[in-house]
Amino acid sequence: MGQSDFLIEVEDLKKWFYPKQSLIGRRKAPLRAVDGISFSIKKGTSIGIAGESGCGKTTTGKLLLKLYDATEGSFKFDGVEMNSGMTKQELKDFRRKAQLMFQNPYEALNPRYTIYQSLQEPLIIHKYGTKEVRRKKIINMLEKVRLTPVESYLHKFPHQLSGGQLQRVVLARSLVVDPLFLVADEPVSMLDVSVRAGVLNLMREVTSTMGLTTVYISHDLSLIKYLCEETVIMYLGSIVEKGPTDKILFSPMHPYTMALISAVPSSDPDVELKELNINNSITSADNIPDGCKFQDRCPYAQEICFKQEPLLQKTKNDHFVACHFSEEIGGKQYENRLCSTRSYG
Ligand code: SF4
Repeated sequence: MGQSDFLIEVEDLKKWFYPKQSLIGRRKAPLRAVDGISFSIKKGTSIGIAGESGCGKTTTGKLLLKLYDATEGSFKFDGVEMNSGMTKQELKDFRRKAQLMFQNPYEALNPRYTIYQSLQEPLIIHKYGTKEVRRKKIINMLEKVRLTPVESYLHKFPHQLSGGQLQRVVLARSLVVDPLFLVADEPVSMLDVSVRAGVLNLMREVTSTMGLTTVYISHDLSLIKYLCEETVIMYLGSIVEKGPTDKILFSPMHPYTMALISAVPSSDPDVELKELNINNSITSADNIPDGCKFQDRCPYAQEICFKQEPLLQKTKNDHFVACHFSEEIGGKQYENRLCSTRSYG
């Protein structure tokens, strides 16, 4: 491992998609899926990236896994710049260290492969040990994800397992090559609610035991509250708020974060709901206005918001916010709001 305390360091990272020129020759505006984001992740910690669909969180995950090359900006993995000039071998080494946990366990596994074959495949690709060493590794991994007795699962096919069991296999497949970094994109959204807590508890335990650095991408703030030390809130390709999860979710300072928290249903009738209603029409990422990107939806927008883009700045509350009026708007009004919501604990 490198000397840096951080496994991931991202500086002004951008991913713009350029549409084809229209038939009349007019060049269309690029789609700014990720539009200059900066953050770092300490080794062995978990960070959550949240926001509505289209906010750029999944594209960010793909950039961190080098499934996309960045349009601009810097991305360092364990202190080493991951530029587009990496050799095939460097990229292959990186692919072993950085793994993706797929969202949909029903599509993530080859239906013609047994569970043993599915776990063996990445080990063969990365030339891991002898056949016997690989077998031991697979058995050990299935024990770690609590698919026991292991012998009863090894020769089953995906269609013979439940959704929760399949997602455990998907987790085992991601971790069998001993990665350093895991990106889990909506890891339980396709599962029945009754088995989600079990899978998340297992993920928390296994990633912690293995010392993994993990990024959870989710629209589910309860999941992020349960699993992540740090949280990043994204809107239209930009980070609007980031910092320690407790501070972000219990005392948000950006109106967009407040609206996301407002949208979480509460199961406790004693909790007073502080709703923040925002305009539901989302600005397109290929038609971003000057000034604050959230201006069309924000109930607090003032003249300056339409002219000047707010910078992400550290606040007195120890987190970073991109809003001209965060000190006036933010505060403690959402404290304990998520405490009463669905808990995975
Ligand atoms: Fe709302 Fe203005 Fe803050 Fe943007 S800068 S979130 S428009 S108050």
